[in-house]
Amino acid sequence: MRIMLHACCGPCLLEPWDALSADHEVRVAYANPNIHPLAEYERRRDTLLGWAASQGIEVDELAYEPESWDRAVAGLEDRPGERCRACFRLRLGLAAAHAAELGYDAVATTLTVSPWQDPDAIREAGARACAEHGVEFLVTDFRERYPEATRRSRELGMYRQNYCGCRYSDEESRQQRERRRAERAARRA
Ligand code: SF4
Repeated sequence: MRIMLHACCGPCLLEPWDALSADHEVRVAYANPNIHPLAEYERRRDTLLGWAASQGIEVDELAYEPESWDRAVAGLEDRPGERCRACFRLRLGLAAAHAAELGYDAVATTLTVSPWQDPDAIREAGARACAEHGVEFLVTDFRERYPEATRRSRELGMYRQNYCGCRYSDEESRQQRERRRAERAARRA
């Protein structure tokens, strides 16, 4: 099978690449207009490209159009569950269109490495996006490989981001870290 693998970042690519490329022809699509700001987008992309180049892996960087992401999540900014579904749909739709254009059979995504992403939402968004472009959505669940992905990415010295990608998740993560700090301080007092 010829698979277009949507990749969100370098650390999350490591394990899905190994799992899928063992039995399939795989090409990688970096399709992430959700990432904010541009410097962060570039840092994640360059981390991914650096590792891919070291392995001889082909990566297609799709157009970075954050305004398309703004349109996709309009009205859902304060509803993380629905916002993430719309975000998955957009990114997997971009990968699916690219797969169809290049004659690939299916799309898979590295998003299912993360234990913080909703696998049902990814599956639903991927299936709908792929149906629109006449390609198959390959359902995967790489969460059990997350510890190994973490270990390998640390060992490789890869940049590891501390928020999902969009400006809302940046703020949500920052607030979460502050809450944890305050809880730890309260426990020590
Ligand atoms: S939190 Fe992550 S998946 Fe959800 S909308 Fe933001 S970037 Fe997309």
